Amino acid sequence: MKEKVKYLIVGQGLVGTWMSYHLEQAGVSYKIINDPNIQSASSVASGVINPVTGRRIVQTWMIETILPFAVNAYKKMEQQLNIDFIKPSPVILLHPSQQMQESFEYRLLHDNVYLYKQDPSKWKLFFETPFGMGAINNCYWIDLNKMISSWQTFLATENKYITAHFEMNDVNFLENEIVWKEIIASQIIFCDGLNSMNNPYFKALPFAPNKGEALIIKVPGLSKEHIYKNAVTMVPWKDDLFWVGSSYEWEFNNIAPTEAFKQKITQSLDQFLKIPYEIVDHLVGIRPANTQRRPFIGVHPIHKQLAICNGMGTKGCSLAPYFTNELLQLLEHNLPVEPEASLKRFDTILTSLK
Ligand SMILES: Cc1cc2nc3c(=O)[nH]c(=O)nc-3n(C[C@H](O)[C@H](O)[C@H](O)COP(=O)(O)OP(=O)(O)OC[C@H]3O[C@@H](n4cnc5c(N)ncnc54)[C@H](O)[C@@H]3O)c2cc1C
Repeated sequence: MKEKVKYLIVGQGLVGTWMSYHLEQAGVSYKIINDPNIQSASSVASGVINPVTGRRIVQTWMIETILPFAVNAYKKMEQQLNIDFIKPSPVILLHPSQQMQESFEYRLLHDNVYLYKQDPSKWKLFFETPFGMGAINNCYWIDLNKMISSWQTFLATENKYITAHFEMNDVNFLENEIVWKEIIASQIIFCDGLNSMNNPYFKALPFAPNKGEALIIKVPGLSKEHIYKNAVTMVPWKDDLFWVGSSYEWEFNNIAPTEAFKQKITQSLDQFLKIPYEIVDHLVGIRPANTQRRPFIGVHPIHKQLAICNGMGTKGCSLAPYFTNELLQLLEHNLPVEPEASLKRFDTILTSLK
């Protein structure tokens, strides 16, 4: 006998985790399918929320709305699971050039909400700082692997998690529902990251996968209360480790770690880090980015049984809690999605595909 649920979610990375969390809070029935053999972007991400971005150190898109929503949501999930995984972690800026120092000084005086000065003498045992220092407030570090695996345990206990590889060919469309194996659902919600690029109903979306590498290093003696940003970023990782990265490659032939990246990061570390370190791992992942740098949130214009929450790019940690809730509000209450993130902007292209 088939089991009926309202939603079938595909993928339990960061986005599928938040989608299922909001459905859980709303008391709506769902199941989530995840294939742990597919490497997720979330499993190698450094887990940083930073309210400013880029060389000009400007505020991140929608940050005043998204940041308080995200922090509150992470804390609520922590409470529900009775574990800790979000931590305030100011970013210490070790300006890598005079130009970056000038950018910081300019931004400190103009439209500044998050920046503050930093005394280099406090850090002189640890870092070379020829161009001075600054800092960013309201930054957070999230232990994504801890959060996602703990939520998965909860889902499994509730009998809502299915370990399986999802194939579109296994789906049968009924008039207002879909059937996947033993499950009947009103809608499928695709939270499957880059896999959506191969989905016949969504492959026309302007995905632009972006490869990122990182080293995991041991740095005995360096405080884990901060994130450190030079030309590279050093983020506290689990145990006594730091995550160091990353690269942003729009064109790549394979998804393997490269010697060139390792050398580049090592050179950089050797220049600014004064204390010894040891490399213990080399990670690589592909960001589900897109040419518009905005999420894809909504329902397929023709096949109303198919919804998507994707395209989080480099900012999944801050965007995912908010935009999965926007999708829930659309599906359950027909409330509009933020226009810049709405799937409606692709209605023409998705309609012509099928
Ligand atoms: C090196 C690196 C560093 C990053 N650092 C940060 C950072 O500091 N801050 C930040 O905000 N963002 C960061 N990001 C970006 C962030 O990782 C992404 O925005 C986010 O993780 C995307 O989440 P997602 O759930 O959409 O995709 P994913 O994490 O890729 O999850 C997709 C899920 O779907 C499952 N799946 C896929 N296909 C199938 C299938 N056919 N059947 C079943 N299951 C399937 C996969 O197993 C996976 O669990 C970083 C990314 C990289 C690569």
